[in-house]
Amino acid sequence: MANLPLLKQFVESVTAFARKYKHDLFFRTELNVIVLQVLFTTLILALVAVGFSVLYKDVSTNLLVGIMTGIVASGTTTSAVIVENLEYLKDRNFVLIAAAITLTTAIFGYLLARLTLAPTRNALESQKLFIGNVAHELRTPLSIIKTNTEVTLFDETLPKDARDTLTSTVEELDRISDIINNLLSLNVLVRPEKIPFDNVDMGVVADRVLAHLAGLTERKKLTVTVERSEYATVWGNLTALEQIVMNLVKNAANYTQSEGVIKVRITPDYRGHIVTTVEDSGIGISEEDLLHIFEPFYRADSSRTRGSGGSGLGLAIVSELVKLHHGSITIKSSPGHGTSVAVTLPCGRIEKEEDNDDLQQVSVDFSKYFGPQKQDKA
Ligand code: ADP
Repeated sequence: MANLPLLKQFVESVTAFARKYKHDLFFRTELNVIVLQVLFTTLILALVAVGFSVLYKDVSTNLLVGIMTGIVASGTTTSAVIVENLEYLKDRNFVLIAAAITLTTAIFGYLLARLTLAPTRNALESQKLFIGNVAHELRTPLSIIKTNTEVTLFDETLPKDARDTLTSTVEELDRISDIINNLLSLNVLVRPEKIPFDNVDMGVVADRVLAHLAGLTERKKLTVTVERSEYATVWGNLTALEQIVMNLVKNAANYTQSEGVIKVRITPDYRGHIVTTVEDSGIGISEEDLLHIFEPFYRADSSRTRGSGGSGLGLAIVSELVKLHHGSITIKSSPGHGTSVAVTLPCGRIEKEEDNDDLQQVSVDFSKYFGPQKQDKA
């Protein structure tokens, strides 16, 4: 009877422990890692034990056979044969045990890493979803405010001061709406399998982006040129590709002084991939900043103090979207002289099939699109 409170306490601790295990993700991971480590050690010990007993068995059999042969033949080479056999057995067992232990360590290392990173992975995913939901909720009220402000601006009797204030409000609203679009992309990137892919002409993408940004480039009196090859089709998602080019051209415009130059070039590379380059004659990026500009929310000091640009999300989104398209991105910059960003994307597919399988990709015969001169170059 005296044991009853003790038993009750024990049951309570077990229940609390089980509850914690069920609800606390980090506690569960810690325990799982401990269990896995114990299992790992046990397995290694078992492997060593098996290795030694096999070696012991082989050695004793070898000795026995050697001695028996020696008795029967009473030859002088018996001991040399025994030693040779033992050497062979030692080497064989050592190699086998080493291989088994290495393989087990690799498998357990992988399992351990997966287990330990699971809470971080989940947290990142929920964070992106949360950001996406908030951004989505903000979109509607923002567009209502923008429409109302624009309607007010139609009033011709509006005093100049009020007009200037409202115009700058609309500009700021555009900036916020860009940030929200970028945040929404982060959200979409959580589930890339939901993004439909198709053949997209990068020339059309560039035209649409430049038309959209005409206000900004004209205001800054920038000279914008576009150079494109006849074949500029990539395999991708139109909205995502527009966002890639939009973010790059917007950066080029934001970080280039008035009357500067922006060149957009769309050309195939030697593998037939399509390279879209956005080059500007702007402020450039220092070597130190170049290492960080793809990190979310990173902004170089120069851009922060200038008050231009956005939130530091633009290039982070670009790099995620390029990754999603199995492409690559290269950035070259010279402070004070300009920046060139090149995005390389796989070319379009001639036949589109239902399954989303990499094997369906077909190669494009570029000789149909370019003269011999360009082909030689490639
Ligand atoms: P932001 O919204 O600040 O433009 P991005 O992610 O697009 O964020 O870019 C990150 C930083 O990289 C910018 O703050 C800027 O300092 C630098 N940067 C990007 N593009 C250019 C460019 N074309 N010229 C100079 N600096 C650039």
